[in-house]
Amino acid sequence: MKIALIAHDKKKSEIIEVAKKYRDVLAEHELYATGTTGTMIMGETKLDIFRLKSGPLGGDQQIGAMLANGELDLVIFLRDPLTAQPHEPDVSALLRLCDVQRIPLATNATSAVIMLEALKNKTFYQMVK
Ligand code: PGA
Repeated sequence: MKIALIAHDKKKSEIIEVAKKYRDVLAEHELYATGTTGTMIMGETKLDIFRLKSGPLGGDQQIGAMLANGELDLVIFLRDPLTAQPHEPDVSALLRLCDVQRIPLATNATSAVIMLEALKNKTFYQMVK
């Protein structure tokens, strides 16, 4: 599966914790991330991640393009709901495309854990087919 990992700055520590906890599960998949999120997760976990541009510099739009092309199967985007983001239109577009394409989307760490648990115990595939 192709999985995208993105986190706003105040949520980067959370996505790193999730990535560490589910490192073995994530390692079985093709991983993509926005620039800074990807660099930080790679530094902490040694996972192999294809990094796009930093989110505010177009990375969210690159993930959006992948979604539009049907190239992603799961998106984990830990959003910071308490801080205004300069690239909010890009964020909204990305989230919207997940819904357009019916791609599973986790926007907080608890949802991400539920999805990764489903991947770990292989029930994910039965639920989304
Ligand atoms: P970043 O982008 O991983 O480059 O920080 C995330 C975002 O804010 O969309």
